[in-house]
Amino acid sequence: MSQVYIVGAGPGDPELITRKGYRLVAEADIVIYAGSLVNPAILEACKPNCKIYNSATMNLDEVLAVMEDGAAKGQMIVRLHTGDPAIYGAIQEQMDALEKKGISFEVVPGVSSFLATAAALKQEYTLPNVSQTVIITRMEGRTPMPPKEKLAMLAAHQATMCIFLSVQMLDSVVAELVSGGYTKDTPVAIVVKASWPDQRIIRGTLETIADQVAKEGVLRQAMIVVSKVLDSDYELSKLYDKNFSHMYRSAKA
Ligand code: SAH
Repeated sequence: MSQVYIVGAGPGDPELITRKGYRLVAEADIVIYAGSLVNPAILEACKPNCKIYNSATMNLDEVLAVMEDGAAKGQMIVRLHTGDPAIYGAIQEQMDALEKKGISFEVVPGVSSFLATAAALKQEYTLPNVSQTVIITRMEGRTPMPPKEKLAMLAAHQATMCIFLSVQMLDSVVAELVSGGYTKDTPVAIVVKASWPDQRIIRGTLETIADQVAKEGVLRQAMIVVSKVLDSDYELSKLYDKNFSHMYRSAKA
């Protein structure tokens, strides 16, 4: 049995954690959750004597000290991250430190917010002939972008882009995307708090979106989606095409 479970809590709706993640939260002796984004309703599953820590006020050493202490006592520890922990979760440094300390751990995936955003928009990101690629990225902030991953360079592909952590820099996001080749009439959707009860959707174009968002006030927990899939004609998929056969179905004559 692992001592530490790094668990994706999902995008907000407490029903969007996996069954495995939920079971582990319910069994844990210690839960350390990313308090700025994880829905605290998930913590209602915890045992009465479970110790709960909010990592928003802790540094890496403090998080690791709680894990090390718990593991030494044979306790089961859940580290809860928002969405899926592999996306902007800062888990690599935790996993590498656990490895060095000889503490065994397992990762349990979660529903990332870029997928909850697609669900909110009732939108497929990969429409035939429009876009078959999804780019997950962010605007450069305090974390620098590798030189080949500047937003303008990624924009050159005109793929569907899901831009995390950047709504507060929307003017710069738009400027980079346009300098990278997106036309100003490219559709944009911003989903605020996807899957939460107060979820909001703002739709516009690269030309209009900054003004629209300025009217909404400060937004937190928002995903920017830029793609022609948001507004386009597309070819029907081959997968369900009656003239097309594949492993599980032959073509109709
Ligand atoms: N690991 C998380 C992302 C953490 S980074 C995941 O897989 O979703 C935090 C950023 O994720 C936020 O700035 C925002 O861009 C996005 N985000 C997280 N939850 C969100 C939600 N419910 N709706 C829209 N965007 C969200």
